Amino acid sequence: MQHYFGTIVNGKAILTGDQVHHLVDVRRGEVGEKIEVSEEKESYLCEILSLEPLEISVLKKIEDKRELDIDLTVAFALLKGDKNEVIILKCTELGASHFIPFISKRCIVNVQDKSEKKQARFEKIAQEGAKQCRRDMVPSIEPICDFTDLLSLQYDVKLFAYEGEAGRNDSLWKEAVKLSKHQSVLFVVGPEGGFEHDEVALASDYGFTFVGLGRRILRAETAAIYGTTILGAASEE
Ligand code: SAM
Repeated sequence: MQHYFGTIVNGKAILTGDQVHHLVDVRRGEVGEKIEVSEEKESYLCEILSLEPLEISVLKKIEDKRELDIDLTVAFALLKGDKNEVIILKCTELGASHFIPFISKRCIVNVQDKSEKKQARFEKIAQEGAKQCRRDMVPSIEPICDFTDLLSLQYDVKLFAYEGEAGRNDSLWKEAVKLSKHQSVLFVVGPEGGFEHDEVALASDYGFTFVGLGRRILRAETAAIYGTTILGAASEE
């Protein structure tokens, strides 16, 4: 069944912009066809009543649970090439609810005047990923910020994937199994070159918990996906 994001008003599902384009022009939806429409973490079974104008009625709320029990934000250092998109797409499938791309000292990507374009591209990837795996919500993409802007953000749990913890006892898994329902969790992953010592010291001052992601040093995009997998798996258990 096709899945869309929209708003629910008085028993009707309202779609706009590319959601309408996709349903009407790309997918060539038909009158009488059943579709799913999600709005703010809830999904509804709907039926297309007419195409011109587009009218969709809500049949019932879908009770399946699709979101994680934690509210997971993945903050990732901007990487070269299409690796940022890989992080957003895969971590969206795995249940992350928010993304914060950031610039830290060892970032090698140049973002000077492309950040608005990047933001729009990231939002599109999140929406496509969410639609494809039938999330109840589209993860948010925060504007690209500096590493230091992350430090004072308020979360119930703040986890920092640090390559210096690789293979040590303070593993992400140990922290993941301690999490409880509805906690907000920030998971931070560094750039290709890792973190500078002073960045690590600052994160420590601001109360981050350092975690290792196993015995091997992972590529940054693998680290983000691994972390989201572990946190998601622990939350769904
Ligand atoms: N250049 C660094 C080095 O040689 O040690 C490795 C950086 S790693 C490619 C990129 C980021 O992924 C790190 O900053 C960290 O956030 C995360 N990462 C990768 N493997 C990790 C591990 N085993 N434990 C914790 N974090 C890891």
